[in-house]
Amino acid sequence: MKNIIFIAPPAAGKGTISNMLTDTYHMTHISTGDLLREETSSDSELGKYIKEQMQSGALVNDEIILDLLKKRIAKDDCNDGYILDGFPRNVEQAIAYENILKELNKDLGYVFLLDVDKELAKKRIVGRISCPQCGAVYNEYMEETKPKKDGICDKCNISLVKRDDDNEETFEKRFTTYFEKTEPLINYYKEKGVLYNIPASCGKDPTFAAIKKVMFGE
Ligand code: AMP
Repeated sequence: MKNIIFIAPPAAGKGTISNMLTDTYHMTHISTGDLLREETSSDSELGKYIKEQMQSGALVNDEIILDLLKKRIAKDDCNDGYILDGFPRNVEQAIAYENILKELNKDLGYVFLLDVDKELAKKRIVGRISCPQCGAVYNEYMEETKPKKDGICDKCNISLVKRDDDNEETFEKRFTTYFEKTEPLINYYKEKGVLYNIPASCGKDPTFAAIKKVMFGE
């Protein structure tokens, strides 16, 4: 299975689509946001710095991310296709990633651009809740992705949680960061001929179907 990169503004659905790919094709899902959140659970200076950056909606230093990412993709579960959810976030990370790929003898694979309307993305962020156990993502304001019981995971039957950075103020900052830092990646990957534009405003099933069509022609 080829590796996958998602380029997407906040709340375009990269986490949800990654989970669907993982469930269907057993690919390994790597969320750099989650890798960073694991680091914030320690009381170290590094943990505090990461937490501050994430809460403000700014990017975490490239060196930290690249180090975490390199260790993660070198693991055995990444030998048969992995999904990068949240990486790269700028052209510098993309260039450094290609050097890591060469070193580890891995391929770039597909780059999917999830294209979503800003107002819809905001609604998705403000209502987003997820399961701390299985990672399933729900939205308390959207019929399509509401949990069956308010605030409870359909699969694990435990309380859903809200991320610290899922509020309107941080959303605006994250969206600006996306336009300034991440959008230049669109041209970078277009020129390499590996970019696929996937409309992502119409819900998870049509978005997933468009991705499967690129991957398998289904
Ligand atoms: P995400 O879970 O992908 O929405 O990321 C949440 C936050 O983690 C972002 O707003 C950044 O502060 C940080 N982050 C995640 N991935 C990266 C990355 N590749 N480079 C820098 N910061 C990142």
